[in-house]
Formats: sequence, C-alpha cells, structure tokens
Amino acid sequence: MDTNEVPGRENNPAYSHTDDSPVNLTDEQWKKILPRDVYEIARNKGTERPWSSPFEDSREIGTYYCAVCGNPLFRSDTKFESGCGWPSFYEPISKGSIIYAADHGYGMDRTEVMCGRCKSHLGHVFDDGPKPTGLRYCINGVVLDFAKAQAAEKKYEEGKK
Ligand SMILES: [Zn+2]
Repeated sequence: MDTNEVPGRENNPAYSHTDDSPVNLTDEQWKKILPRDVYEIARNKGTERPWSSPFEDSREIGTYYCAVCGNPLFRSDTKFESGCGWPSFYEPISKGSIIYAADHGYGMDRTEVMCGRCKSHLGHVFDDGPKPTGLRYCINGVVLDFAKAQAAEKKYEEGKK
C-alpha cells in the first residue's frame, strides 16, 4: 500500500511500511503530526471505547500496521474473537515488532505493549489467549492501520482452509 493512500498519514515523515529504523520524535512533533484520536491513545496511553473499532470484528485477510509509524505489527491470521471489545491477536509479526513494559496503573498489574519502532502505546497483553501462544494482545483499533493482502495471496490463504 502506498502510504499516501492512508488518510491522515500524508504529513507524517516517520510513516513507512518498510523502514524499520527507530523513530524518535518529541511529544510536540507528534502532536502536530498525528490525528487527535491517534495521538491521545498512542502518546498519552489512552484507551478507546470498547466495541468502537471497526477492526474489532473484521475478518479481512491482510496485515495490521502501527498507525503512528507504519511498523508491521500483526497478521490477520493471528486475530481472534476475544469478546473483550478490542481487536485481539495471539502473536505479533516478529519479536521486534512489539516492546513490553510493566503497567501498575489503575491498581492493576498489567503488561503494556508498545510499537517496537516508535514506542507508541498500543494496548496490553494478557495470558488468557488461545493456542499456540496462550496470549491475548488487546489492541486499540485507533492505533492500527490495515492493508488487505494482495488478491493472489488471499486466494492462497482461502485455499488452505
Ligand atoms: Zn509505531
């Protein structure tokens, strides 16, 4: 996908689906670049309302990217219906695509997940997910971009079922 086709990303110099060099912009810079809803969750560690993301029940085949920097995060075939109200995945695309931090906020012991490239807040990971990992990556849909798989790849995926 051409990044110019992603609405709201035209003015984001950090956004790329292929460049994996670390992104280090200041909070002021992010505030100028990012749409307000993305900024609020990605940089202020906000949480979108449950059931508000169109990705929550999407079954489209393709790749989910960080909406802040374009880093590939999850494949659609690791997405599952968790019933928690947020898009849920059991495994990131690669070990480096996500970074983890202990989150003791709101009187809970949770593990925060952030984008491995730009350190934006994505959501949390819990250990009540399905096999094979047993993990549930509970992610705010606002900070995800989705690109459909190419037609040929899609046919291949459907053929496997
Ligand atoms: Zn990112």
